[in-house]
Amino acid sequence: MNAQRIRLIIGLMTVALVGVICLQIYWIDWNIRLNEEQFDKNVFAALNRVAGKLQYFETVSAIEAIPAGHGESFENKMTMWESMKVLQLFDAKPLAERIQLDILAKSVQEEIAGRGINATYQYGVYSKERNSYVIVNDHFVVEDSGPQITQGGAPTLYNSPYKVALFTQDMESPGYLSLYFPSRTSLVLGSVLKALVLSIIFTGIILFCFWYTIQVIYRQKQLSEMKNDFINNMTHEFKTPIATISLAADSIGSPMIMSHPDKIKRFVDIIRQENRRMNSQVERVLQMAMIDKKDFQLSLDDLNLHEVIQQAVDNFSLQVEKRDGILRTELHAQKPVIEGDPTHIASIIHNLLDNANKYSPDKPDITISTNDVAMGVEITVTDKGVGISKEARKHIFDKFYRVHTGNIHDVKGFGLGLSYVKAIMTAHKGLVDVKSEPGKGSSFILTFPKQVNA
Ligand code: ADP
Repeated sequence: MNAQRIRLIIGLMTVALVGVICLQIYWIDWNIRLNEEQFDKNVFAALNRVAGKLQYFETVSAIEAIPAGHGESFENKMTMWESMKVLQLFDAKPLAERIQLDILAKSVQEEIAGRGINATYQYGVYSKERNSYVIVNDHFVVEDSGPQITQGGAPTLYNSPYKVALFTQDMESPGYLSLYFPSRTSLVLGSVLKALVLSIIFTGIILFCFWYTIQVIYRQKQLSEMKNDFINNMTHEFKTPIATISLAADSIGSPMIMSHPDKIKRFVDIIRQENRRMNSQVERVLQMAMIDKKDFQLSLDDLNLHEVIQQAVDNFSLQVEKRDGILRTELHAQKPVIEGDPTHIASIIHNLLDNANKYSPDKPDITISTNDVAMGVEITVTDKGVGISKEARKHIFDKFYRVHTGNIHDVKGFGLGLSYVKAIMTAHKGLVDVKSEPGKGSSFILTFPKQVNA
């Protein structure tokens, strides 16, 4: 997949995700508003019913109160009440006295519960004449001088949007009944809470997967670029010795050279040297196959790290000396014997020395030291080369990773040496660490346990 297509896919996914999130927000908001409307409708319906009941009970009790001494029929009482009403006899009575507390409490409770509203509430009756609440919940309010004095739910009753006029059959309604729900917001939100939480969880999962997929795509892309680099590098590394060998062979075959055994010997040496170079390249490719296999077998043996190091240094010192460099050993470990695979350990020490040499642009100054540590034995390979940046340090043990900077670019390599070191150290239950300062040099620290299967 090329970069443009990846960007396109990411763009499309982002647009789709933002769209889905906006839609979710819209739906949830819409739902909340719908719930609010439904709730308000129910509350007003309940209030209207209560107001109706209060009116009805007043009428009934008024009719019953008309003296029946003269054997008057109900119809007569009705007519009398009608005329009393016309005369506005009841208006004279204060609002609080026209309402029975128990009937009010019961009606409110019934109407609210009957509409499926399961929440605490406060109610109150407001008198226009007194200019204050005269009933709050189930008691009369003797003196109410405003919202700030009234305790309990009353101050909020003042602000409640739920109110209906009482006794609307009077010439002028004497006051209103209001209801207040302290938990209205959580009640309305509660019904969409499940949808909201699920939406957040699912959106979170999608976002995570989206992020993870992009990560994987980029990692794969990087890996495929590294593999390409590897192939280019390898081709280059093989081409040079092949060309040299071919040239040397041609030269040996020429009649001018054939008669000079010393010249033949020189060309044979060149062929041998180039052959060795190719051999070590093949060795590296094989090492890579080894890293991939993961479950490779170590042939463990007791080995003296000092001997292995000495051997590696002997083999390597010529290369360092050729560049006028120094290769020092400081073997301080008292107990350098560990359990390990001699071939692999020799290889990784060689890799570290090779890197120390490769990444020292001037005369190499390399020190290899050992020390006893709590875990076992520690080997440190220190150079005064180019060093490694903090960012690169995170990746140098990854397969195919190479630092791409102008002046290091011409150093040949496959980006496999350190991942091989890491694989071998892990197989030995050991550790590998790096300390480095760009421009000053690097130290690679290998820590071996005494026993692999301790
Ligand atoms: P290669 O040397 O083949 O590129 P390695 O796996 O051995 O691969 O190293 C990975 C990268 O780590 C190298 O490309 C180099 O940039 C960096 N590196 C390794 N050793 C050193 C060192 N001693 N000094 C500076 N950089 C180093």
